[in-house]
Amino acid sequence: DLMAGEIEGTETGKKPVPDKVSGRVSFQNVSFVYESRKNTEVLKDISFEAAAGQRVAVVGPSGAGKSTLASLLLRLYEPNQGKILLDDENINAYDLASYRKQIAFVPQEIILFGGTIRENIAYGNPEAAFSEIEAAAEKANALEFIRGFEQGFDTIVGERGIQLSGGQRQRVAVARAILRDPEVLLLDEATSSLDAESERYVQAAVGRLMKDRTSIVIAHRLSTVQAADRIVVLEAGSIVERGTHAELVAGSDGLYKRLVRMQNLGDLA
Ligand code: ATP
Repeated sequence: DLMAGEIEGTETGKKPVPDKVSGRVSFQNVSFVYESRKNTEVLKDISFEAAAGQRVAVVGPSGAGKSTLASLLLRLYEPNQGKILLDDENINAYDLASYRKQIAFVPQEIILFGGTIRENIAYGNPEAAFSEIEAAAEKANALEFIRGFEQGFDTIVGERGIQLSGGQRQRVAVARAILRDPEVLLLDEATSSLDAESERYVQAAVGRLMKDRTSIVIAHRLSTVQAADRIVVLEAGSIVERGTHAELVAGSDGLYKRLVRMQNLGDLA
């Protein structure tokens, strides 16, 4: 699993991402090997495209390479072969800080830092006005529970403050991403299930977050893959199947159908 804390760093001498990117993401023949395991190709000749505004779900058994694919998109590592494009430009050509402004990452396990809810939402967009922070919280279905705290947005969370529930933390993370308003959203869907009501609130918030932006989701839920514009099925570093949910379940028996039968789409080892 990826940690939000890994997304750091800046570099100079590269160009900024232009304001007018549409958000199309394409992997073109991407292969990748970790330095520490040079004899194992973790991604093998991966090609797929997420058109601007589309939702692409990536599914596959544990160890298939889903997190690695996400790491490459976040530029935590560079492909050994092939390239990843944002619109028509190699993502590597862009200044890292500028590139990462265009992509929001919502990890599986959300760790809030010790500070107020307001600071946690504004993180990544510190100039935001309070009215914008409130609006983002509302879209993320978080306004009601935040207002339920005596200190509201000034409530301190984290170790020395109030412990938020899993579903509340997820909605704070969604509010943060909504406030950043990136072109591309990368979501590592939580595997641990929430209670049904909390789940509904989180799903509705995530749906609003994905609307009108390119989303790449490491999916673990049936509802997510059913709603995806396309699904990429990874196995041992290769794409073994692709299509919509309807196409894949109508097709011959394969990995996707087995994953769906397992309920948790990342579970099959
Ligand atoms: P999961 O669903 O369990 O999170 P995944 O599909 O996300 O799995 P990855 O985490 O991308 O899979 O791992 C793909 C392969 O790369 C695995 O064999 C894993 O052991 C290996 N791997 C992952 N991270 C590293 C690393 N930092 N160094 C070396 N090998 C790694």
